[in-house]
Amino acid sequence: MLALQGLTPVQLERVMPELTADEARRVISQVHRGEDPRTPNSGVRRTSREAVARIASVPRLEVHATRRSQLDPFVKYALGTADGHRLETVRIPLERAGRFSVCVSSQVGCALACAFCATGRMGLQRNLETWEIVEQVRVVRRDLDRKSERVHGVVFQGMGEPMANLDRVLAAIEVMNDPSALAIDARAITVCTSGLPAGIRRLGREAPKVRLGISIGSALASARRRLMPIERSHALDEVLEAAAEHAKLTGLAPLWAVTLLAGVNDDVAQALALADRVADFRMRTGRSPRLSIIPYNAIGPSESGERDPFERTTDEREEAFRAALRERGVFTHKRYSGGADVDAACGQLAARG
Ligand code: SF4
Repeated sequence: MLALQGLTPVQLERVMPELTADEARRVISQVHRGEDPRTPNSGVRRTSREAVARIASVPRLEVHATRRSQLDPFVKYALGTADGHRLETVRIPLERAGRFSVCVSSQVGCALACAFCATGRMGLQRNLETWEIVEQVRVVRRDLDRKSERVHGVVFQGMGEPMANLDRVLAAIEVMNDPSALAIDARAITVCTSGLPAGIRRLGREAPKVRLGISIGSALASARRRLMPIERSHALDEVLEAAAEHAKLTGLAPLWAVTLLAGVNDDVAQALALADRVADFRMRTGRSPRLSIIPYNAIGPSESGERDPFERTTDEREEAFRAALRERGVFTHKRYSGGADVDAACGQLAARG
C-alpha cells in the first residue's frame, strides 16, 4: 500500500491517472489536515475514492508519550512505528510567539557514533520512510492551536544522519514544501549533517533553497577524530570543501554548530583553529557561516552502564572561547538548546520515551 503522506499531488496523479489534478490536491490536503479522503463528501468522485482506497492508505505513527518541558515551551514526542521501533521528535518554539520549528528524525538510531550524542550509542536500526518523516510534523501540528499557532520550519537534527537517508529526506522535503500538503517554505527547512560530502553536494543541487547545517565538533583533526568517527573517512577539509560548493551554488550561508565539551574542544587554541576555518570559508565563498556554540547536555550513562564521557564547559571557558573568536572578527550565536529536563535538547534524543 502507498502511504499518502509521502506523496505530493503530482506524484499521486502519476500513480493514479484516474484522479484529476484537483482531486489529487484535495486528497493530499485532507490527509495533512487529519481527514480521511476515502470517505464520502470529500469532494472527490466515488470512483476516484475507490481507486485511492484500493492502493493507498494513511498509516500513522503511534504517540507513546508527549513530554512538556517545565523549563521552556519545548515538547518532546516519543513515537512508535508499526514494526516496533521508537523515534523522537521535538517541537521547538521560535522567537515569534506562536511559531514553531519541528526537529525531525530521519533514521531510527544512527551509524555514525558521534561520542557526544545519545542517538549515536544506539547504532543504526533502520532508515525512516518518507511518510514517517513527514508524519512527525503532522503529529506536532495537530497539537497546536489552529488560530494562533503554526509550524514555521523544520530542522533535520533529530535522530539519525539525514545525508545517509537522503532519497527519503529529499522526498519528505518536497511534500513538506508542497502548498497542498504542509506548505512549509523550503527556506525555513534546514538539513544538518555530521559531514557527508556527497550528500551536501546533492542537497545543493536538488533542494537549493534548503539551508545546510554542519556539526563541526572541533576544527582540529585529532580532537574531531575523537568526537566524530566520520572524520576518519571524511576529514573536515573535505566536508568544508563540499559546504563551500553548496554555498556558492545556493547563495546560502551554512550553519555551523560546535558543542563545547570541558577539556576536549573548549580552549583558546581550538577557538583560533575555528576562526581560521571561518576566515578560509569566507574567503572562498564570500559568505560567513552562522556559528552556534551549544552547551553540552549530559546524556548520562548508556544502557550498558558506560558512563557519560563528557562534561559541560564552564561559563568562564565558554566566554574565553567566544572572546578569542570575537577578536578574530568571528561572532557567535549562543544557541539555546532547551527541553533539557525532558531529554529533548541537542544530542539527547535516544528513544528512551
Ligand atoms: S550527532 Fe547526528 S550523526 Fe552524530 S551520532 Fe548523533 S544523530 Fe548520528
